Amino acid sequence: MCRHLAYLGPPIPLADLLFTPPHSLERQSWAPRDMRGGGTINADGFGVGWFQAQEPVPLRYRRSAALWTDSTLPQLAAATRSGCVLAAVRSATVGMPVVETAAAPFTEDRWLFSHNGKVTGWPDSVAALAAALPVRDLLTLDAPTDSALLWALVRDRLRAGLEPGKALAEVVTAVRAAAPGSRLNLLLTDGESIAATTAGHSLSYLATGDGAVLVASEPLTPDAAWTAVPDLSLLVAAPSAVAVIALEGQTS
Ligand code: GLN
Repeated sequence: MCRHLAYLGPPIPLADLLFTPPHSLERQSWAPRDMRGGGTINADGFGVGWFQAQEPVPLRYRRSAALWTDSTLPQLAAATRSGCVLAAVRSATVGMPVVETAAAPFTEDRWLFSHNGKVTGWPDSVAALAAALPVRDLLTLDAPTDSALLWALVRDRLRAGLEPGKALAEVVTAVRAAAPGSRLNLLLTDGESIAATTAGHSLSYLATGDGAVLVASEPLTPDAAWTAVPDLSLLVAAPSAVAVIALEGQTS
């Protein structure tokens, strides 16, 4: 059910996340180790968003095909360095379209967002939450998918000035109340910090000594320093510090 990652730290080639590590995102697209809730491979699209030095708004490259089929990306990823990256590979939930615009990261201004999971009872279960959004946002969803709606719900709160972690936590709470059993691993960055939730899927992080932090559905390396994030947590990370707290009021 999709795999995603975010990196914050000294600039590195995108390939150091996507292709080079033993359990790179490319490998996780065809040989994931910890798929929960259905799905075996992540072949229904991919995306990578990254910040370039001095640029306030990230760039994004996404496609509807499997990551391993893309002949452009290896060279692009080897030549492009960034200090903040968010990337994802997608296993489309049954009934949802396999189109480029359904692949994460979703983006606006400086934000990059990804969802790993599924909203149960989609779309009726979350009709009331959707109806609370400005109609313009509903008419301009990236794709008719649960992930695109979750992004609209998160974005609405970010636009209102909520802290990233608070925005994610609020959306997880509201969606799990409306659609119990939903799997909601959310991942968000603004280039300066990373926020993530766990609700139904795996997530780990690695804080390296050189001021870098990596958050990923599955560890990219055999490094024993990777820490698994418990289910129903909120993670907030900057290169200097990682905090993991329980998502308030959530029971599994
Ligand atoms: N439900 C989302 C989609 O179809 C995310 C899928 C996933 O996590 N596998 O895009």
